Amino acid sequence: MKITSQTNLTGIIGYPLGKTLSPVMQNAAFNALGFNWAYVPMPVKSENLDVALKGLQSLGFKGLNVTMPHKEKVLAYLDEVSSFAKMAEAVNTIHFEDSKIIGYNTDGRGFLHALENDGHFKPEGKKAAILGAGGAARSIALILALNEMDSIYIVNRTLAKAESLVASIKDRFKNTRFEVLSFGDNLPKIIDSTDLIVNSTPVGWEGDLVIDPDWLHSGHLVVDLVYIPQETRLLQEARNRGAKILPGKLMLLYQGAASFEIWTKTVAPLEDMRKALDEELSINEKS
Ligand code: NAP
Repeated sequence: MKITSQTNLTGIIGYPLGKTLSPVMQNAAFNALGFNWAYVPMPVKSENLDVALKGLQSLGFKGLNVTMPHKEKVLAYLDEVSSFAKMAEAVNTIHFEDSKIIGYNTDGRGFLHALENDGHFKPEGKKAAILGAGGAARSIALILALNEMDSIYIVNRTLAKAESLVASIKDRFKNTRFEVLSFGDNLPKIIDSTDLIVNSTPVGWEGDLVIDPDWLHSGHLVVDLVYIPQETRLLQEARNRGAKILPGKLMLLYQGAASFEIWTKTVAPLEDMRKALDEELSINEKS
């Protein structure tokens, strides 16, 4: 990659910005298409978010990814927000276009692409349990309900948070039934009856489990949003019990591809992005 005065700049903002896989994935995409574009990680503190956005806009940046802790707060500084990002109350992609700062959320789209393309799973008429009730759970619940999921169980350690998530979205969807649960009670029975189980808690980075794997069976598709390690213990245990599994790196790949397409208005070179992501994850796992 040769950086010149003509290079179109993109990047990711968050704080603290630890290990991020997006630069490797996005720069591989630019290289694959021979684009004079570059993607850089930029730690931005919350108190500087407003000036950082204005600064990056005046420097001619084309787009950004937005990560923790700015995904919600950034909404206050945007000229336009996509309808999905409005519903999700969070933005993970910014496009600087025609002097406007426009916000999008590609997490839902990324999750759906992983389900459909790699899991060969259609939400319509099916039942899902989402473990966790944070930002990722909200995007996933929305995209599943938009795709006519029959029932969505939001399972969370803090029940009040699950209740508030459901209260804020359920009235939009007449064809989807929402229920909230904590990790005790009749969870095994509910899990047994679902088609799709999504771990949207961070539990798994350290090899821990958020539910008893003996509740899993061959009728389940199990998705873990945690992507380091690539195959978490939850996914290993699910596979051992005959369930289909989808690793979190796929949502990461497809949400990144959707951001790329918003900025460049070009179809993303998915296989080049996938290869770069896989290589980087393998290096991480060896180190
Ligand atoms: P978040 O808003 O902070 O929500 C985290 C959720 O996990 C909360 O509901 C929290 O429950 C629950 N939780 C945290 N620790 C827990 C524990 N020890 N036991 C049980 N529940 C626990 O985070 P988020 O943005 O939704 O992200 C969640 C995870 O998804 C993160 O690991 C993130 O890296 C990953 N993610 C991956 C992708 C991808 O592309 N693969 C995309 C987005 C996010 P309480 O309400 O009780 O605190």
